[in-house]
Amino acid sequence: MRDIITEIAKKYDADVITFTPASQFPKDDTIFKIFPEVKTVIALGFRVLRGAYRGVEEGTVYYQYTTMGVENIEETVMPMAMLRVTSVIEQNGFYAIPQKRNQLIMNEANSTNPEVDYSAIFRNIDAENQMNFEKSAEICGLGEIGMSGKIINQEFGPYFRYCFVLTDAETEPTPKEKISLCDRCGECIKACPGNAITDTGLDPWRCAVYYSCGTGEKNPFMAPDAFLNFENRKEIIDGTASFDAEGAKEILDSGLFYPPAGHSYKTSLCARACDRACYIHLEEKGVLTRKFKKKFRERDDWKLDTKQFDTLKREKEWNFTAMEKRK
Ligand code: SF4
Ligand code: SF4
Repeated sequence: MRDIITEIAKKYDADVITFTPASQFPKDDTIFKIFPEVKTVIALGFRVLRGAYRGVEEGTVYYQYTTMGVENIEETVMPMAMLRVTSVIEQNGFYAIPQKRNQLIMNEANSTNPEVDYSAIFRNIDAENQMNFEKSAEICGLGEIGMSGKIINQEFGPYFRYCFVLTDAETEPTPKEKISLCDRCGECIKACPGNAITDTGLDPWRCAVYYSCGTGEKNPFMAPDAFLNFENRKEIIDGTASFDAEGAKEILDSGLFYPPAGHSYKTSLCARACDRACYIHLEEKGVLTRKFKKKFRERDDWKLDTKQFDTLKREKEWNFTAMEKRK
């Protein structure tokens, strides 16, 4: 059955398929609450096309990454592959429970998922309602959790997404080698325009703000009068503003610069700079097994002039002064 599953998963666009005995998961892992009889965890990994990142790398086309690199993989490609795999397992008389991340449900009470609209998320519904996707991907040999918090795959680097099927069928496990790709180079930290990643991990609310709004230097759709009603406007635009979750929501409510994709997916106006920096670094080191004829970064990184934001700020202050004088 393992060969048939692998064949069907590949036919439906999975790039990496692994089989892991459930006994390799911690005894208190959520998989045993979801399906106590689980014997095998099947992991399905999907590349995000390098071409889907090309537009955001060049600053030319933004919707392709979000529609083709996020929404369609999560909501079309993955479900199709999982449905076919689960059907094959059921035809053989076993249970097969598909596990795709629900982007709109969070275990945490006050966190967010930067890829979707924060107001569409349901939080703290049931602390055990979802697998720990990153940790499970690591256990299943799909990759390593990097400093940016994302799984880095040996073949595709951070350009990678994944899902799982839990089954009571026992199959031969996939042999796994220890994956060691993240060298803590810090390129993802440097690349984030909103300073959302630190040595201690990702701040999801900072990431949500800058994923969705970008910065003046990096968001070509940011109008000159963006965030005019914020006292710390300059800092919001340059990526250095301090804010908590409530502050993040206010900024997000004022920062719609580009239409979202379907399923509440926001368009990435930080251009997924952390992923790209990581990919470029790993490609330069030559450690990714999928090779291309050309390097991903073909020319110097770009940034926009931000003078228009200063001018408007000054005009607003001047108008204020004029109004004061009239009183
Ligand atoms: S950019 Fe460097 S530090 Fe960040 S995840 Fe990639 S390898 Fe690790
Ligand atoms: S580059 Fe974008 S996705 Fe990456 S941490 Fe920063 S805001 Fe988040």
